[in-house]
Amino acid sequence: MSAKLTIAIDGPAGSGKSTVARRVAAMLGYVYLDSGAMYRAVALKALERKIPLGNDTRLAQLARETHIELKAPTAEQEAAGFKNRVVLDGREVTAEIRTGEVAQAASRLATIAGVREVLVAEQQKCGAGGGVVMEGRDIGTVVFPRAELKIFLEASAEIRAQRRWMEHQEKGETFSIEQVLEEVRDRDRRDRERKVSPLVRAADAVLVDNTAMGIEETARLIVMLAREKEVTKQ
Ligand code: C5P
Repeated sequence: MSAKLTIAIDGPAGSGKSTVARRVAAMLGYVYLDSGAMYRAVALKALERKIPLGNDTRLAQLARETHIELKAPTAEQEAAGFKNRVVLDGREVTAEIRTGEVAQAASRLATIAGVREVLVAEQQKCGAGGGVVMEGRDIGTVVFPRAELKIFLEASAEIRAQRRWMEHQEKGETFSIEQVLEEVRDRDRRDRERKVSPLVRAADAVLVDNTAMGIEETARLIVMLAREKEVTKQ
């Protein structure tokens, strides 16, 4: 039996993190955890309650009063492309959190230190046992700075927008590619420039640029690196 690792996968929107992380977890028999889903769930709750996205104190309070569970998706959810089942205060919100509006709100809310503090603690609890692949923006830098394997996934903004556009198309949403590219650039800027836990590559993260690589190829590369680490951890 080889030792199980903690694997951190960070990168910008559309870099293929979720699909790659989910695939890597399946190949290794690890648990997959999507930290972005937590930011999205709190954002959905804030939008529903019409809490202004500039009110840091109320939003941090809201995060403290929120209970989020990440579970494995059902077969139908998996077939529909959902990689985690997300339960917000006992209510299923798996599909509801995947809108452009929620994504934008999540990236605003993610700039608030009080919100991050609550969600980071929750993420650390979820992944405490090892044998997990967690993806996000600050997993290798803040959530699991001692993760045995850290990957920073990159791809050009154009290809990332194209991937997001295809996801929208599959859901029957009609956005122009220019609109999606603008949304991707907007979120990139906010994620990279924020003061608290900005999106940066950890010094010890392996940089994987998958602009010209498929999901399967990227996942196999990461699994290969993980297998090496598993052997040395024994
Ligand atoms: O990964 P996803 O696109 O679902 O994340 C939604 C937003 O949540 C991101 O744009 C980012 O601002 C925020 N996020 C974060 N830290 C994480 C995961 C997500 O700030 N670990």
